[in-house]
Amino acid sequence: ALALPAAVYMLQEQEAHAAEMERTFIAIKPDGVQRSLIAEIISRFERKGFKLVAIKIVVPSKNFAEKHYHDLKERPFFNGLCDFLSSGPVVAMVWEGEGVIKYGRKLIGATDPQKSEPGTIRGDLAVVVGRNIIHGSDGPETAKDEINLWFKPEELVNYTNNAEKWVYG
Ligand code: ADP
Repeated sequence: ALALPAAVYMLQEQEAHAAEMERTFIAIKPDGVQRSLIAEIISRFERKGFKLVAIKIVVPSKNFAEKHYHDLKERPFFNGLCDFLSSGPVVAMVWEGEGVIKYGRKLIGATDPQKSEPGTIRGDLAVVVGRNIIHGSDGPETAKDEINLWFKPEELVNYTNNAEKWVYG
């Protein structure tokens, strides 16, 4: 008699979590790749409990970098930034989880590594703003746009990670 309500309850819990699932675009920039920080960075998102649903390594063209950073085209550092992003391999990823857009930004730390808290990726691993090793979408709209820019729909993988029930209860 208890089994059915418990199963229904668990299903409702899972549906509640599913409703709050979101995805963000995260990129390890050429400096992070060259400094052999790929595993370190992935590990921080993975250990948190977020789920990797897409990953590839690419050298973006200058034109592609300009598309990615189009919001910053009026800034004085725009050209140098786009040159830099297209200067070597970038690890492009999509991470999924509850609150992953906002919390991903917390894991990353402030834009200027001098202002990033210790314990954050930029705080622990970078020194200057022009070489801050990682990008993360800054909100739901940019997350959607950036995922669409960097990935084809079929490159995103839907799967259940066995640890999810321990991460979300
Ligand atoms: P974030 O990457 O934290 O979202 P922004 O969107 O403001 O930050 O800027 C995008 C990227 O542009 C930064 O990650 C950094 O690499 C670069 N950038 C930002 N401000 C400067 C600056 N003053 N000088 C050089 N590069 C900068």
